[in-house]
Amino acid sequence: MEEMYAKALSYDKADTLSNYRKLFHIPCTAEGEEHIYLCGNSLGLQPRSVRDYIEQELEKWQTQAVEGHFTEPNPWLYYHKLLKPALAHLTGAGEHEVTAMNNLTTNLHLMMVSFYQPTQVRFKILMEASAFPSDQYAVESQVKYHGFDPAEAIIALKPAAGEETISPKAVLEAIEQHGSTLALVLLPGIQYYTGQWFDLPAITKAAHAVGAKAGYDLAHAIGNMPMQLHNWDVDFAVWCSYKYLNAGPGNTGGAFVHDRYAQDVDLPRFAGWWGHDEGVRFKMEKGFKPMYGVDGWQLSNVNILSLAAQRASLDIIAEAGITQLREKSIRLTGFLETCIRQIDPEQTYIRIITPEQPAQRGCQLSLFVQEKGRAVYERLSANNIITDWREPNVIRVAPTPLYNTFEEVYRLTDILQTILAI
Ligand SMILES: *Cc1c(COP(=O)(O)O)cnc(C)c1O
Repeated sequence: MEEMYAKALSYDKADTLSNYRKLFHIPCTAEGEEHIYLCGNSLGLQPRSVRDYIEQELEKWQTQAVEGHFTEPNPWLYYHKLLKPALAHLTGAGEHEVTAMNNLTTNLHLMMVSFYQPTQVRFKILMEASAFPSDQYAVESQVKYHGFDPAEAIIALKPAAGEETISPKAVLEAIEQHGSTLALVLLPGIQYYTGQWFDLPAITKAAHAVGAKAGYDLAHAIGNMPMQLHNWDVDFAVWCSYKYLNAGPGNTGGAFVHDRYAQDVDLPRFAGWWGHDEGVRFKMEKGFKPMYGVDGWQLSNVNILSLAAQRASLDIIAEAGITQLREKSIRLTGFLETCIRQIDPEQTYIRIITPEQPAQRGCQLSLFVQEKGRAVYERLSANNIITDWREPNVIRVAPTPLYNTFEEVYRLTDILQTILAI
């Protein structure tokens, strides 16, 4: 392992993104010792600039009150538009195709209102059996709302016997198999438990080939994987901002709607005044006229303090660039895998259930601990290493390229070796 330590130090030295760590608050012990924070998949760290961004809006509220909606800089009326360039960069979309609004699950419902239009023949939704619970509840309630039986309408994909992840081929086969009965394919970009990246372009193509819509939950993908939602022809996507977007707990989510629906006024949708043509919004007239693009799905005026925090982080991420972040991420996660294999070559103690191919995963590795997983997790915590525990036996570790270092990955593995006594 000594040789790995030397490697870690040299990788950090050569890391062109290493200065970004300084832009974040790293959680500390009472004595001021930095934690090793590998939990950005759950809650990203706070950018140091967040306070200033929020302070500006507090100041505006304090001194200008309602006028703040109109006064420069950054009138609140249009504040959400400031986030569009970065969101477009991260998702591979046009600015009309993305916006920050509501929260993930709310957006998922709004999107399903428009893009899940079941008929007696075509009414099924393909998702994964172990989808994040909120997605399961959302889908189940939508299916029931349309008068269908979830047991019939929801196709829940499972990994093949003895496997941890769903093979890319199995997804495509299931789409083909359900063909003309399939209304919607709803999958994650990155699976929250296993860290598996789904092949969005191939899945979208297959869904469209059978006449179904393709929508994605990008909770763990945005800010983690570069994407091309527009070119991949994705119908819609939703995300939250507090994971790899570091926007803070419960911050505003976002949505993507493909440009081909930008002017589709006939699509069913649940409307609100913020989705109404902004040129005439304040005339307060009857008759909903949606804005062009995803903005036509907005309901309410936006939460400025929340978006100020999100903007602080998006400005940092956009400056670093998702391509550069991904490039480092592949090496950082690869290094984590190499270190773990070094201390446990036969996977006697730790089995990595995340796919081995970098193309099939983001930064997170999910470690299935063969014995006493919970105790291992707790000892990591006692050593100031913050990871994330998932029943029954999985520790999720997410080295993020914005603020984690190769040395931290080395130190995690070094302490794991001590804990496991190997
Ligand atoms: C984190 C996460 C959510 C959270 O939903 P909220 O509406 O933001 O509370 C939903 N789905 C997935 C897959 C997630 O990982």
